[in-house]
Amino acid sequence: MASPVFTRRFLDSLPGDDQTDPTSREVTGALWSLAQPTAVADPKLVAWSRPLAEELGFDDEHMQDPKTARVLGGNALWPGMDPYAANYGGHQFGHWAGQLGDGRAIGLGELTRPDGESAELQLKGAGPTAYSRRADGRAVLRSSIREFLCSEAMHALGVPTTRALSLVLTGDQIVRDMFYDGNAAPEPGAIVCRVAPSFLRFGSYQLPCSRKDHALLKTLADFTLENWFPQFAGQGKDGYAAWLAEVADRTAQTIAHWQAVGFVHGVLNTDNMSILGLTIDYGPYGWTDNYDLGWTPNTTDAQQHRYAFGNQPTIGMWNIARLGEALLPLLDNDESCIEAAATRYQESYSKHATKRFSDKLGITFEPDDVKLIQDGFDWLGKEETDMTVFFRSLSNVVTEAEAPNAMPSACQAAFYGEPSESHVAAGVAWLQRWWQRTRKESRAPTELATAMDRCNPKFVLRNWLSQTAIDAAHKGDYSVLERLQKVMQRPFDDQPEHDELAAKRPEWARHKPGCSALSCSS
Ligand code: AMP
Ligand code: MG
Repeated sequence: MASPVFTRRFLDSLPGDDQTDPTSREVTGALWSLAQPTAVADPKLVAWSRPLAEELGFDDEHMQDPKTARVLGGNALWPGMDPYAANYGGHQFGHWAGQLGDGRAIGLGELTRPDGESAELQLKGAGPTAYSRRADGRAVLRSSIREFLCSEAMHALGVPTTRALSLVLTGDQIVRDMFYDGNAAPEPGAIVCRVAPSFLRFGSYQLPCSRKDHALLKTLADFTLENWFPQFAGQGKDGYAAWLAEVADRTAQTIAHWQAVGFVHGVLNTDNMSILGLTIDYGPYGWTDNYDLGWTPNTTDAQQHRYAFGNQPTIGMWNIARLGEALLPLLDNDESCIEAAATRYQESYSKHATKRFSDKLGITFEPDDVKLIQDGFDWLGKEETDMTVFFRSLSNVVTEAEAPNAMPSACQAAFYGEPSESHVAAGVAWLQRWWQRTRKESRAPTELATAMDRCNPKFVLRNWLSQTAIDAAHKGDYSVLERLQKVMQRPFDDQPEHDELAAKRPEWARHKPGCSALSCSS
């Protein structure tokens, strides 16, 4: 196929920086700076997403063309590409951090997919930009594998997310202090090509507001509305207020989905919050193995637990409030618009979380079910029990002819260690209540089981699984990565030949770095 042709809507519609060199600097009055990827030694395409390539209109031949690896590694450009780094700020761990920007992500431009939708391509780890501060603009293989695999795994689960087209090994070594303990060491470098309709973040709006550049804020907001929320464009304050509420709604829906599958983002700073409600910026994220609302994968957050699993819904709302404050100049400083967005967030979260949790249990929600659902999750968190294995096992129990009078073996597989007798007894009592409740459904138990298996994934990208792919890749073996990629494309299908990838976390992984805790060093 011919090289795809790219357009530069972001650059053509929004003011940019006059300077073109990558020296780190404060960039005011501009939403982007030009940024050429820095060439790498030997770009090798080690993995790519066929489903995404197809959506973009790239066939296998195009993906395997050596020129493609050069573009996706930052050593060449396709026609129309005009690389840039976006300017944005953010609240990090609750504190305003000022300008951040794309320090190691470089936007390549936009293309129109065969289905008419637009897609922006961005290289993460392609070298320094005006926003790199003292860092090198690069990314290591381990974090790139994690972002590549998880973006596509989340998409397959149905969770709104940025996508990942490719993983390129750069052939360069990068020095990182993985544990921040003074032991810096070289590691292989890599570049992921991320894809999304837009990479705008809450922090994109916060930065111009923080500088009282209300004209720039309005230009960006109007650009956003015209392109991504046309239903609210050209309506002044009311349109901006409706947009804020819509972002609140989408954010709540995405986070409700995270809670339902056990995904923990790990760094929900406002620069990592997509204006489209997508999951964005896969850093020290993780999946809760044993259901634990207090768990965070991020070692930087180990003390505070700000971004722990159970805090995500509240943090989402905190972030919406920060976005609302940034938009106040467009809202005639009417704070009731922020309150309205917060209410919308709460209502949306409650509605979607309830629906997802009920679906997991195979029940059509009725107000009386609140206690059943809550009791189930409370029980799950009391003694170490694998969330994914437990929910997946329920489709086996729902088809039983009678309510269970002992812990079903399918559920037993979810326990880490030996559960106490009282815990087992409480679990059986809960399963009985739930089983009785399922009999009130109009659908037959077999139908319920099928529906439950469509929303309780068998396969999620557990931390230890990614680590096995990383360990193998460090030895030059990408077969583990390929297998995970393939299996995670069909997370709800049984795929019995891959049963061991559905197993709960093995003991060796409990405290192993990368499997239990991750630093931001990437
Ligand atoms: P993150 O925690 O990945 O969201 O990154 C926060 C900020 O630090 C963003 O502005 C990133 O672009 C920047 N950043 C992180 N790592 C690097 C790096 N290796 N080189 C340059 N900038 C980076
Ligand atoms: Mg970020």
